[in-house]
Amino acid sequence: MDHATRTGALGPLVVVSGPSGVGKTTVVERLLRRNNLPLRRAVTATTRDQRVGEIDGISYHFWSRDEFRRATEDGRMLEWALVFDRDYYGTPRSEVDQYRAIGVGVVLVIDVQGAATLKAVYPQDRVSIFVMTPSFEALEQRLRSRQDTTEDRVLQRLQTAREEVARAGEFDHRIINRDLEEAVNELEAVVRSQFRMPPHSQPVNN
Ligand code: 5GP
Repeated sequence: MDHATRTGALGPLVVVSGPSGVGKTTVVERLLRRNNLPLRRAVTATTRDQRVGEIDGISYHFWSRDEFRRATEDGRMLEWALVFDRDYYGTPRSEVDQYRAIGVGVVLVIDVQGAATLKAVYPQDRVSIFVMTPSFEALEQRLRSRQDTTEDRVLQRLQTAREEVARAGEFDHRIINRDLEEAVNELEAVVRSQFRMPPHSQPVNN
Protein backbone atom coordinates (compact mmCIF):
# COMPACT_ATOMS: atom_id res chain seq x y z
CA MET A 1 0.00 0.00 0.00
CA ASP A 2 1.46 3.38 -0.90
CA HIS A 3 1.75 6.42 1.31
CA ALA A 4 -1.33 8.19 -0.10
CA THR A 5 -3.50 5.13 0.23
CA ARG A 6 -2.51 4.82 3.85
CA THR A 7 -2.94 8.47 4.74
CA GLY A 8 -5.10 9.95 1.95
CA ALA A 9 -2.73 12.93 2.04
CA LEU A 10 -1.51 14.99 -0.89
CA GLY A 11 2.28 14.67 -1.24
CA PRO A 12 4.08 17.79 -0.04
CA LEU A 13 5.36 20.48 -2.40
CA VAL A 14 8.93 21.38 -1.45
CA VAL A 15 10.49 24.48 -3.02
CA VAL A 16 14.30 24.67 -2.91
CA SER A 17 15.90 27.87 -4.07
CA GLY A 18 19.17 29.76 -3.79
CA PRO A 19 21.81 31.27 -6.05
CA SER A 20 23.17 29.45 -9.06
CA GLY A 21 26.31 27.53 -8.03
CA VAL A 22 25.26 27.06 -4.42
CA GLY A 23 24.93 23.29 -4.85
CA LYS A 24 21.16 23.10 -4.29
CA THR A 25 20.58 20.50 -7.00
CA THR A 26 23.35 18.32 -5.52
CA VAL A 27 21.81 18.58 -2.05
CA VAL A 28 18.41 17.58 -3.46
CA GLU A 29 19.83 14.72 -5.55
CA ARG A 30 21.67 13.35 -2.49
CA LEU A 31 18.46 13.42 -0.50
CA LEU A 32 16.63 11.56 -3.29
CA ARG A 33 19.39 8.94 -3.40
CA ARG A 34 18.86 8.18 0.29
CA ASN A 35 15.56 6.83 -0.98
CA ASN A 36 13.90 6.82 2.41
CA LEU A 37 11.04 9.16 1.54
CA PRO A 38 8.45 8.97 -1.25
CA LEU A 39 9.91 11.90 -3.11
CA ARG A 40 10.79 13.03 -6.65
CA ARG A 41 12.39 16.09 -8.22
CA ALA A 42 10.29 17.81 -10.86
CA VAL A 43 12.05 18.07 -14.22
CA THR A 44 11.51 21.70 -15.15
CA ALA A 45 11.55 23.28 -18.60
CA THR A 46 13.96 25.85 -20.01
CA THR A 47 14.72 27.69 -23.23
CA ARG A 48 18.44 27.88 -22.44
CA ASP A 49 21.01 25.86 -24.42
CA GLN A 50 21.67 22.33 -23.31
CA ARG A 51 25.08 21.98 -21.59
CA VAL A 52 27.49 19.13 -22.25
CA GLY A 53 26.39 16.14 -20.17
CA GLU A 54 22.80 17.33 -19.76
CA ILE A 55 20.03 15.01 -20.95
CA ASP A 56 16.73 16.24 -22.35
CA GLY A 57 13.85 15.06 -20.14
CA ILE A 58 16.17 14.30 -17.21
CA SER A 59 18.21 17.44 -16.56
CA TYR A 60 15.52 19.69 -18.02
CA HIS A 61 12.91 19.64 -20.72
CA PHE A 62 14.76 21.73 -23.31
CA TRP A 63 12.08 23.67 -25.18
CA SER A 64 12.17 26.29 -27.91
CA ARG A 65 10.78 29.72 -27.06
CA ASP A 66 7.68 28.83 -29.11
CA GLU A 67 7.05 25.61 -27.22
CA PHE A 68 7.52 27.47 -23.94
CA ARG A 69 5.13 30.25 -24.93
CA ARG A 70 2.46 27.74 -25.98
CA ALA A 71 2.77 25.90 -22.65
CA THR A 72 2.28 29.13 -20.68
CA GLU A 73 -0.66 30.22 -22.87
CA ASP A 74 -2.34 26.82 -22.50
CA GLY A 75 -2.08 27.04 -18.70
CA ARG A 76 0.24 24.04 -18.55
CA MET A 77 2.78 25.74 -16.27
CA LEU A 78 2.60 25.95 -12.49
CA GLU A 79 5.01 28.89 -12.54
CA TRP A 80 7.60 30.36 -14.89
CA ALA A 81 10.16 33.16 -14.90
CA LEU A 82 12.73 34.92 -17.06
CA VAL A 83 16.02 34.10 -15.32
CA PHE A 84 19.26 36.12 -15.64
CA ASP A 85 17.29 38.40 -18.02
CA ARG A 86 18.02 35.82 -20.63
CA ASP A 87 16.20 32.47 -20.64
CA TYR A 88 12.78 31.21 -19.61
CA TYR A 89 12.47 28.52 -16.96
CA GLY A 90 9.26 27.00 -15.65
CA THR A 91 7.55 24.09 -13.95
CA PRO A 92 5.09 22.03 -16.03
CA ARG A 93 2.03 21.01 -13.99
CA SER A 94 2.45 17.47 -15.34
CA GLU A 95 5.68 17.21 -13.31
CA VAL A 96 3.85 17.90 -10.06
CA ASP A 97 0.11 17.31 -9.73
CA GLN A 98 -0.19 13.63 -10.65
CA TYR A 99 2.59 12.67 -8.22
CA ARG A 100 1.26 14.69 -5.31
CA ALA A 101 -2.15 13.13 -5.88
CA ILE A 102 -0.73 9.71 -5.02
CA GLY A 103 1.09 11.00 -1.94
CA VAL A 104 4.53 11.48 -3.49
CA GLY A 105 6.36 14.62 -2.42
CA VAL A 106 7.65 16.82 -5.24
CA VAL A 107 10.79 18.94 -4.94
CA LEU A 108 11.12 22.00 -7.16
CA VAL A 109 14.62 23.42 -7.57
CA ILE A 110 13.73 26.85 -8.90
CA ASP A 111 14.76 30.49 -8.69
CA VAL A 112 13.55 33.07 -6.17
CA GLN A 113 10.95 34.52 -8.57
CA GLY A 114 9.39 31.08 -9.06
CA ALA A 115 9.41 30.49 -5.30
CA ALA A 116 7.59 33.81 -4.78
CA THR A 117 4.95 32.88 -7.40
CA LEU A 118 4.26 29.59 -5.63
CA LYS A 119 4.07 31.33 -2.26
CA ALA A 120 1.37 33.62 -3.69
CA VAL A 121 -0.56 30.76 -5.33
CA TYR A 122 -0.22 28.24 -2.48
CA PRO A 123 0.33 30.27 0.70
CA GLN A 124 -0.08 27.21 2.96
CA ASP A 125 0.37 24.19 0.78
CA ARG A 126 4.14 24.17 0.26
CA VAL A 127 7.34 24.58 2.21
CA SER A 128 10.28 26.63 1.00
CA ILE A 129 13.99 26.37 1.70
CA PHE A 130 16.73 28.81 0.71
CA VAL A 131 20.22 27.33 0.25
CA MET A 132 23.35 29.52 0.45
CA THR A 133 27.13 28.98 0.61
CA PRO A 134 28.95 30.20 3.76
CA SER A 135 30.08 33.32 1.84
CA PHE A 136 29.93 35.10 -1.52
CA GLU A 137 33.63 34.26 -1.99
CA ALA A 138 32.78 30.56 -1.77
CA LEU A 139 29.97 31.06 -4.27
CA GLU A 140 32.24 32.93 -6.68
CA GLN A 141 34.82 30.13 -6.48
CA ARG A 142 32.18 27.56 -7.29
CA LEU A 143 30.85 29.54 -10.22
CA ARG A 144 34.34 30.05 -11.63
CA SER A 145 35.18 26.35 -11.29
CA ARG A 146 32.48 25.51 -13.85
CA GLN A 147 34.33 24.91 -17.07
CA ASP A 148 31.55 25.85 -19.44
CA THR A 149 30.81 29.39 -18.37
CA THR A 150 32.08 32.78 -19.54
CA GLU A 151 33.24 35.69 -17.36
CA ASP A 152 30.11 37.63 -18.35
CA ARG A 153 27.87 34.87 -17.14
CA VAL A 154 29.77 34.50 -13.85
CA LEU A 155 29.33 38.23 -13.18
CA GLN A 156 25.65 38.08 -14.15
CA ARG A 157 25.09 35.11 -11.83
CA LEU A 158 26.90 36.85 -8.94
CA GLN A 159 24.75 39.95 -9.39
CA THR A 160 21.59 37.83 -9.42
CA ALA A 161 22.92 35.95 -6.34
CA ARG A 162 23.16 39.23 -4.38
CA GLU A 163 19.56 40.07 -5.26
CA GLU A 164 18.44 36.56 -4.32
CA VAL A 165 20.26 36.48 -0.97
CA ALA A 166 18.55 39.77 -0.09
CA ARG A 167 15.26 37.82 -0.34
CA ALA A 168 16.30 34.81 1.76
CA GLY A 169 13.98 36.04 4.54
CA GLU A 170 10.95 35.20 2.37
CA PHE A 171 11.67 31.48 2.81
CA ASP A 172 10.39 29.19 5.57
CA HIS A 173 13.87 27.70 6.17
CA ARG A 174 17.46 28.62 5.35
CA ILE A 175 20.30 26.10 4.95
CA ILE A 176 24.02 26.93 4.66
CA ASN A 177 25.73 24.43 2.36
CA ARG A 178 29.00 24.25 4.32
CA ASP A 179 29.14 20.48 4.53
CA LEU A 180 27.13 18.49 1.98
CA GLU A 181 25.97 15.68 4.29
CA GLU A 182 24.91 18.18 6.96
CA ALA A 183 22.98 20.20 4.40
CA VAL A 184 21.24 17.02 3.19
CA ASN A 185 20.38 16.10 6.80
CA GLU A 186 18.85 19.53 7.36
CA LEU A 187 16.83 19.30 4.16
CA GLU A 188 15.68 15.80 5.04
CA ALA A 189 14.45 17.00 8.45
CA VAL A 190 12.36 19.74 6.82
CA VAL A 191 10.93 17.42 4.17
CA ARG A 192 10.20 14.67 6.68
CA SER A 193 8.24 17.10 8.84
CA GLN A 194 6.01 17.79 5.82
CA PHE A 195 5.06 14.14 5.59
CA ARG A 196 4.33 14.11 9.31
CA MET A 197 6.20 10.80 9.46
CA PRO A 198 7.99 9.59 12.58
CA PRO A 199 11.83 9.78 12.27
CA HIS A 200 12.35 6.04 11.87
CA SER A 201 9.31 5.02 9.84
CA GLN A 202 9.63 2.38 7.13
CA PRO A 203 10.70 3.51 3.66
CA VAL A 204 7.88 3.61 1.15
CA ASN A 205 8.32 2.37 -2.42
CA ASN A 206 7.03 4.59 -5.16
P1 5GP B 1 20.78 26.76 -14.60
O1 5GP B 1 20.80 27.51 -15.91
O2 5GP B 1 22.05 26.99 -13.80
O3 5GP B 1 20.46 25.30 -14.77
O4 5GP B 1 19.58 27.35 -13.73
C1 5GP B 1 19.46 28.71 -13.54
C2 5GP B 1 18.43 29.02 -12.49
O5 5GP B 1 17.11 28.70 -12.95
C3 5GP B 1 18.62 28.25 -11.19
O6 5GP B 1 18.51 29.15 -10.10
C4 5GP B 1 17.46 27.29 -11.20
O7 5GP B 1 17.06 26.94 -9.90
C5 5GP B 1 16.40 28.09 -11.90
N1 5GP B 1 15.32 27.25 -12.41
C6 5GP B 1 15.40 25.99 -12.92
N2 5GP B 1 14.19 25.53 -13.26
C7 5GP B 1 13.29 26.50 -12.95
C8 5GP B 1 11.87 26.61 -13.04
O8 5GP B 1 11.17 25.71 -13.47
N3 5GP B 1 11.32 27.77 -12.63
C9 5GP B 1 12.06 28.80 -12.13
N4 5GP B 1 11.40 29.89 -11.72
N5 5GP B 1 13.39 28.74 -12.01
C10 5GP B 1 14.01 27.61 -12.41
